[in-house]
Amino acid sequence: MRCTRLYLRSDQLDGPKSAGSVLYAKQRSRYDANCMTEFANCPAWRILLVDDEPTQRLIMARLLKRAGYEVDTASNGKEALAKIEAGDFQLMITDWEMPEMDGIALCNALRASQTKGYIYTILLTARDAVEHVVTGLQAGADDYLTKPVIEPELIARLSTGKRIVTLERSLRHANEENRRLSITDPLTGVYNRRYLMEQLPREIDRAARYGRSLSVIMCDVDHFKKINDTYGHLVGDEVLKWFVAQLQANIRTCDWIARYGGEEFVIVLPETNVENAAKAAEHLREHVSKTIFESGELRLEVTASFGVSGRNGNVPLNATLDALIAKCDAGIYASKAAGRNRVTVEALD
Ligand SMILES: [Mg+2]
Repeated sequence: MRCTRLYLRSDQLDGPKSAGSVLYAKQRSRYDANCMTEFANCPAWRILLVDDEPTQRLIMARLLKRAGYEVDTASNGKEALAKIEAGDFQLMITDWEMPEMDGIALCNALRASQTKGYIYTILLTARDAVEHVVTGLQAGADDYLTKPVIEPELIARLSTGKRIVTLERSLRHANEENRRLSITDPLTGVYNRRYLMEQLPREIDRAARYGRSLSVIMCDVDHFKKINDTYGHLVGDEVLKWFVAQLQANIRTCDWIARYGGEEFVIVLPETNVENAAKAAEHLREHVSKTIFESGELRLEVTASFGVSGRNGNVPLNATLDALIAKCDAGIYASKAAGRNRVTVEALD
């Protein structure tokens, strides 16, 4: 299929190749690749053709297929909604007058529902009075055509639809990418503090509501300031990335990590009581302390201090994020005070 390009390729970007512009070009090119992957996964533009007259459906379907579209048909609004639910359509042409559910009701229902992507809709009808056009557009149709259809006009209007759908998709991609960036720590790739503060209260609420357990491990790289001062911040950054990689390789897939700040990370363990979280923390501590950080010629023994909190029992309804974090903090403080490279458990019950 052909896709309308809405932006420049990285090799078309002008301007000096400063570090910033190279980075921009790389990001843009990755962004392009993502968009193109979605378009590539969509083999042809798919139209849902809705009309209760079999002959009309046949003629229109033939015309659309000739124009390169993949066509599926429905004989009324209800059938169309079922097909939209199950399939992946980018365009829809619908008749107005149909039994069971007419074109206006179909447009209303489509716009009220949460479809995967925007479906550009053309209302095709014999009604040509201005009030009909207005009613159709107000119901959520994007365009309005009167029968009998003039082939080149229909094809041209469908091209407009393709432009709109392509634009909507690239905006959706950009929004998803912005959302991802807004919740990610750029250095380590784990969630950032914003996400932690947004998502952990939800995890607590869910556990409380369904009577489940939940624990949190907080960990802090020991003597991190000394690493930065001795080897420089670039090595410090490498150490943090390495540290996160050690954590990630040793937690379950349902657990998640956020950077709390500086060299401090939080691991959220759903469905886990504090006793098991303590075992997990001890496993992480031991793994980190036994694994050597290597960067070029440099070999470093890195350790971390851990604070674990949660409950032996299930999360009660009055549980708060603040209490959990405060206990983890106290745990880390105790671990540091006792000589670092250790786990301190501060249960809430
Ligand atoms: Mg009809």
